[in-house]
Amino acid sequence: MSLSQEYYTAAGKRMPGGVNSPVRAFGGVGGEPIFFEKAKGAYLTDVDGKRYLDYVCGWGPMILGHAHPAVVKAIQECAKEGLCFGTPHPLEIALADKIIDCMPNIEMIRMVNSGTEATLSVLRLARGYTKRQKILKFAGCYHGHHDALLVQAGSGALTFSTPTSSGISPAVIQDTLVAQYNNLDEVSDLFSRFGDTIAAVIVEPVAGNMGCVPPVPGFLHGLRKLCDRYESLLIFDEVITGFRIAKGGAQALYEIKPDLTTLGKIIGGGLPIGAFGGRKDIMEHLAPLGKVYQAGTLSGNPVTMAAGLATLNQLSEPDFYERLNTRTTYLVNKITELAKKAEIPLVINQAGSLFTLFFTTASTVQHLEDVHTSNLASFKCYFHAMLKQGIYLGPSAYECAFVSSSHGEEEIEYTLQAIDKTFSTFLSSIK
Ligand SMILES: *Cc1c(COP(=O)(O)O)cnc(C)c1O
Repeated sequence: MSLSQEYYTAAGKRMPGGVNSPVRAFGGVGGEPIFFEKAKGAYLTDVDGKRYLDYVCGWGPMILGHAHPAVVKAIQECAKEGLCFGTPHPLEIALADKIIDCMPNIEMIRMVNSGTEATLSVLRLARGYTKRQKILKFAGCYHGHHDALLVQAGSGALTFSTPTSSGISPAVIQDTLVAQYNNLDEVSDLFSRFGDTIAAVIVEPVAGNMGCVPPVPGFLHGLRKLCDRYESLLIFDEVITGFRIAKGGAQALYEIKPDLTTLGKIIGGGLPIGAFGGRKDIMEHLAPLGKVYQAGTLSGNPVTMAAGLATLNQLSEPDFYERLNTRTTYLVNKITELAKKAEIPLVINQAGSLFTLFFTTASTVQHLEDVHTSNLASFKCYFHAMLKQGIYLGPSAYECAFVSSSHGEEEIEYTLQAIDKTFSTFLSSIK
């Protein structure tokens, strides 16, 4: 038995499924999750000493690669001065300034401790501000694990949502409407029926939690227009896309002004974080100024602020995104060629340094139904073949691959070799 297997057995006795977050388990691909103990740059090292090229990157935060010296140093220096004050701290202003500077639609911000907490709080704020109850979300978008948003479109009637988890009170989701991603007609229909009760539309401006699904032209603009017409708020959940697909997030790339934005992942540099912000007149409804209550013992923790600030400072290097995105585009184009060569049906979606391989015969993947046309057997085969060759991918067909600035030419070329081998030997046998 490997050391990793021993740990997994031990973990399973103490934690449900041996993990503290279900995406880490190998439920979607079979086999056992691997225990890692070190990470540097683009590589992870497991407890048995095997090195893997990492395309999970902490599920998003590690855009600089692992253990970037500037980030580690900032954390160490800050920690020496104290870990948790429960009082205001100057670094909170520094990180807020940095974020507001890059995302001018955020006029005021509040730091929290996870993306889940950010979307939970932002919905309360939207309801408190508009005095309306309904929230409109999209099937396949993930906004964290709180009750109101763990819903999917019910079968048949569009308007009746069903929870995607047990343990959720039907009362809590009765105000959540669900539409198909990239389907403006459905949104328009829901607005015409419920418009004056919809507090907000919450959307991942590039969906990253059903694999990478970018918005079709006009979709985000259409949402903005509908929200304006019905005086509902538009919330961009940029927990993944913020500082990922562009420095100013998807709102900068697509030039759309959301009323509120949620952030997380990258802005904490690898430590737990979330944040939400936007229009000043809305944000001033938050306690202690306003009547919408929201609080957190560890919110704005100085060590987290230091890690986030050090990370965001690196992203301001000229050409950072151009280089990262160009490299990812090169990788994606080459994978497309390899799939053609091996005659494997494949759609690859890319947005900046995010991409997903959908093993499908569909011509495009634009929403959850398209995503579900993927051949899961092909993905499993691809995942395990890559793992064997020392490449660690997200253990699910419905995730993005994350490229970091530590993924250099050597890493990209190695990845392409491994994919070539996988496509020509493994996958052609099952297609
Ligand atoms: C990861 C994610 C969240 C949840 O963030 P956590 O820190 O895991 O709670 C929310 N929204 C989006 C778009 C995410 O990708």
